[in-house]
Amino acid sequence: MSTTFNYNVEQFADLRILRFQIPEFESLPLKKKMYLYYLSQAALCGRDITWDQNGRYNLWLRRVLTLVYETTHVTCATRDEFIRFEVYFKRVLFSGGFHHHYSTDKLTPELSEADVSFLINHLSVSQLDTLGVTNTNELLAKLRLIFWDDTFMFKRVCQDPDKDLLLHSSNNFYRDVTQTEVENYYQTKIDSSIENPVSHGLNSRLQKQNNQLVELVWSTKGIYGEALTQIVNWLRKASLVAENPEQVNYIETLCQYYETGDLKLFDKYSIQWLQEHKGDVDFVNGFIEVYGDSLGYRATWESLVNIKDNAASLKAEVISEYAQWFENQSPVEARFRKTQVKGVSMKVISAVMLGGDCYPTSPLGINLPNSEWIRELYGSKSVSLENISHAYHQASLTAGVVEEFTYSIKDVALHSTYGALADNLHTNLHECLGHGSGRMLPGVKQDDLKAYGSVIEEARADLYGLYFMADPKMLELNLVPHMDVYKVQYNSYLRNGLMVQMARIQKGKNIEQAHMRNRQLVCKWVLEKGHADKVIERKERCEGKTFYVINDHEKLRHLFGLLLAEVQRIKSTGDYEAARHLVETYGVVVDADLHAEVLQRYGALNVAPYSGFVNPVLTPVLDSDSNIKDVTVTYSEGYLEQMLRYGTDYGFVNDYDSM
Ligand code: ZN
Repeated sequence: MSTTFNYNVEQFADLRILRFQIPEFESLPLKKKMYLYYLSQAALCGRDITWDQNGRYNLWLRRVLTLVYETTHVTCATRDEFIRFEVYFKRVLFSGGFHHHYSTDKLTPELSEADVSFLINHLSVSQLDTLGVTNTNELLAKLRLIFWDDTFMFKRVCQDPDKDLLLHSSNNFYRDVTQTEVENYYQTKIDSSIENPVSHGLNSRLQKQNNQLVELVWSTKGIYGEALTQIVNWLRKASLVAENPEQVNYIETLCQYYETGDLKLFDKYSIQWLQEHKGDVDFVNGFIEVYGDSLGYRATWESLVNIKDNAASLKAEVISEYAQWFENQSPVEARFRKTQVKGVSMKVISAVMLGGDCYPTSPLGINLPNSEWIRELYGSKSVSLENISHAYHQASLTAGVVEEFTYSIKDVALHSTYGALADNLHTNLHECLGHGSGRMLPGVKQDDLKAYGSVIEEARADLYGLYFMADPKMLELNLVPHMDVYKVQYNSYLRNGLMVQMARIQKGKNIEQAHMRNRQLVCKWVLEKGHADKVIERKERCEGKTFYVINDHEKLRHLFGLLLAEVQRIKSTGDYEAARHLVETYGVVVDADLHAEVLQRYGALNVAPYSGFVNPVLTPVLDSDSNIKDVTVTYSEGYLEQMLRYGTDYGFVNDYDSM
């Protein structure tokens, strides 16, 4: 990839905006470019589904903020009120709503009531009318609730086990129902004697109508019908230029699923999709991940269009070839291992277009499908996103975070040599082997661990990767040039889990996000269990700065193996109590003093702790008969420019709720 490419776009609040490059897009054959273009359109058309799922008033607020922006950005550009407003607007656009994308806390604008009054007074009567209000006082009263009222929709995803998780979550997956009602509903609905169950609740909103619980399905004929129809239309165009008949088949099944909402069709699609390996182009498009629902039933819409990085994939394929070998060597009890690992496939890809919940924050790796029985019977597809991690790495080179939180200069040097390689390898092992490993005992259900399920699952995958990175097999398979690579990963995993990731948490708060809980859980557990042997040592230097230093990487590997065995036992047996104990003891609470220190040290570096991406722009070039003769790619669109354009071009959820 070109070294002159500018990866950094801009930075504001706690967010950094980067750009990624699609390698060699220009030299692809026309048919592939067209396939990518149509799939990319399908990826962008679902944007507002995600916004509406994140909260029922998000699209209304976006409309308000967009109108304010459009009417003030020329005349008020240099005024302080406008500058503060613009930061809030950009944060809302980043989050797909008015809750932080990561912490899910409500975003608070740094605006006073006078600022807001000043800005909204620029709106005309007809503009106010489109917002469902007759005057600015009415509008201000509504905005007051969103901006400053701590009791109004203060959290998108509540995970506090002492509270009713649904009544305290403001996402749009449930309405007027309690956690107990939903748990009872699924207790009677899900018959555990049925083999190969569909993923109940994955594609619907659950709400009360006439005192009955009703599932309102997301389909072309139901909720989000307009957006899903657009998606289906683009997917059908794409299938005309697909690379092979298998892709045509799974695209058709996906379209039928969107048209009917039938979850059996989604399972059929997932199986067809995971078995297709011949093409270079691939995509995710659907209601996929359930992190946005505290109870883990309902999935947020997302899309990722990608193309295979053939050279890098050769290496990753080695890992999938040896999947059974790794499973047999896994330190978990034999009865929890897969006796036959099926269809694990690993490839390295480049992102082409991010959509829905993958935009603007992109994952680094994906392992799908999520359905447990499909994974056990048919396997799964794993990818790591090479151009995204490359962009992260390029942007991090100048950030100084590793230098600040690493004790020895030697370890800093090792990190710059092997850091990117170590991270990619861990992602590959996590996605390809970790999530695909192990098996459940008969009768144990996927949702037995309830709110702790996601954390336990991520811990399992991380630990699997950490454990095997230190295996001499890595050298033998030529996956690493030196065993120092795993040491670099252990150093950075602990640096992050014990310290750096706390930079993302506000003072006085604890950890809520599943991946962060998992990392701290793993790190604090090994810190405690290795205490007597001084496996990891806490050191201080330079006016009381804290560092964690690994004294014995081999012993640390052993501890990772012990924890992996326990985490696998919890998952395989559905041991809710043990999951709760592990997560609450090690994964949630932060050490207040250390947290303050991290915030201070990280703050001094002036690096925003979260990153997101602007997409490249794909543009079809038409000949005189309006046929596509080429598709061009450009990388010059700005962040706000892109967000505003998407708002205009892809606004396909128009029956949203006004406040
Ligand atoms: Zn994972």
